[in-house]
Amino acid sequence: MENVKCLIIGSGPAGYTAAIYAARAGLSPVLYTGPQQGGQLITTNDVENYPGYPDGRSGPEMMDDFRRQALRFETEIRNEMITKVDFTGPIHKVWSESGAEIHTPAVIIATGASAKWLGIPGEERLQNKGVSACAVCDGFFFRKKEVVIVGGGDTAAEESTYLAKICSKVHLLVRRDEMRASKIMQQRVLHTPNLEVHWNTESVEVLGEDEVTGVRVRNNQTGEEKIIDSAAFFVAIGHKPNTDIFKGWIDLDESGYILTRPGTSLTKVPGVFASGDAQDKVYRQAVTAAGTGCMAALDAERYLVEMEL
Ligand code: NDP
Repeated sequence: MENVKCLIIGSGPAGYTAAIYAARAGLSPVLYTGPQQGGQLITTNDVENYPGYPDGRSGPEMMDDFRRQALRFETEIRNEMITKVDFTGPIHKVWSESGAEIHTPAVIIATGASAKWLGIPGEERLQNKGVSACAVCDGFFFRKKEVVIVGGGDTAAEESTYLAKICSKVHLLVRRDEMRASKIMQQRVLHTPNLEVHWNTESVEVLGEDEVTGVRVRNNQTGEEKIIDSAAFFVAIGHKPNTDIFKGWIDLDESGYILTRPGTSLTKVPGVFASGDAQDKVYRQAVTAAGTGCMAALDAERYLVEMEL
């Protein structure tokens, strides 16, 4: 068993930012990276919307910058996954995949979320070559081009209208004859002139050798197949927050996102703080994740002072 003053779970922008703040506050944080060191940005080619990088940066390079900044202030980083927690408190217990048992008064959750994929041919092979799960991140690379996006929820509605502002034409593939998105978002979709909704339409295959050139689609009512020429294929069918191990300990919404007290990183359990995409289903940006990682570290520091721990 090991005692740690502040434990951070996750290594995306939220986790590393929490580590930078916690380390500089003298909390000697230990950070467990989880299975994908660097989080979702690791699979992103160019990040051009993170302030402070005027020339952009590749996702992996940016996350290496975050990691090195956390190390500079003596964060201990462990390339392992946390598999079990016991938040009975006030000293929380956490177990790693190798069986290490850690006791800590302050846990910062920054486990992120994972985009859902369709699993169709071409989708994985062409990731970062036109296939993306984030229109706000990657749409700009396809400005003035024709693109396809899949989904029928608020994310697909928001991202398709976002793309319509920068792309010449947007094809939105909806698998049913109606959208799940809120009425106001649907109205926005239907009133965007360069946005065509293909109802009852499923994607069959993403086409292209070294980059996306089109998408083979099928109408699930008539069985008719056709190819839509497209420079990009955006998947917007939802995300899954990586919060399974916290079920039963802290409050989650019906989709598994962690519920925090509004305007803070506080969960319902004293000494357990949540940041990043694990608690954010709306904004989901690197910069917002980093912001909430900072909040979690400041909340943790304040909590430890108040509790004299
Ligand atoms: P949702 O789960 O709400 O919607 C997912 C959509 O993807 C559904 O329309 C679903 O179709 C479709 N889908 C799922 N699997 C497939 C598949 N295999 N092939 C084709 N289509 C598929 O996810 P969102 O990310 O849109 O939203 C998540 C939550 O975040 C919601 O609560 C939403 O309201 C919220 N949100 C709010 C925003 C805002 O307020 N500005 C912005 C973005 C999200 P079907 O309907 O047939 O099941």
